[in-house]
Amino acid sequence: MSCIFCKIINGEIPSSKVYENEYVYAFRDINPQAPIHVLVIPKLHLASADEINAENSVYVAKIFEAISVIAKSEGLENGYRVITNVGEDGCQSVKHLHFHILGGKKLPENMG
Ligand code: AMP
Ligand code: ZN
Repeated sequence: MSCIFCKIINGEIPSSKVYENEYVYAFRDINPQAPIHVLVIPKLHLASADEINAENSVYVAKIFEAISVIAKSEGLENGYRVITNVGEDGCQSVKHLHFHILGGKKLPENMG
């Protein structure tokens, strides 16, 4: 599997780990767009949110449970933003489902 985020999960590519459990891995974005920028990914290769279905949606539930834990541990009590980009029009550059947690400042209102 040539997927860069699968390689991060199995340790082939180093990352700055923030959180991990049986379903979820979270690490700091290499090119942060906010003072706190964490990526949360499932330990199952799904290309994007467009591949979520009844068989695999437990991973999404686990991701959002983790997001809440990570937000607290990162000190984001004033709020934050969760984003997942999908496909070409969504400007998704890595084809392994990931949720961006952005925070640590007042974020721009414009969502695109
Ligand atoms: P997206 O454009 O939504 O697909 O987001 C992909 C994100 O992955 C970007 O914000 C990149 O900065 C980030 N990224 C790519 N490679 C790495 C890496 N090796 N470690 C951490 N973050 C990465
Ligand atoms: Zn993958």
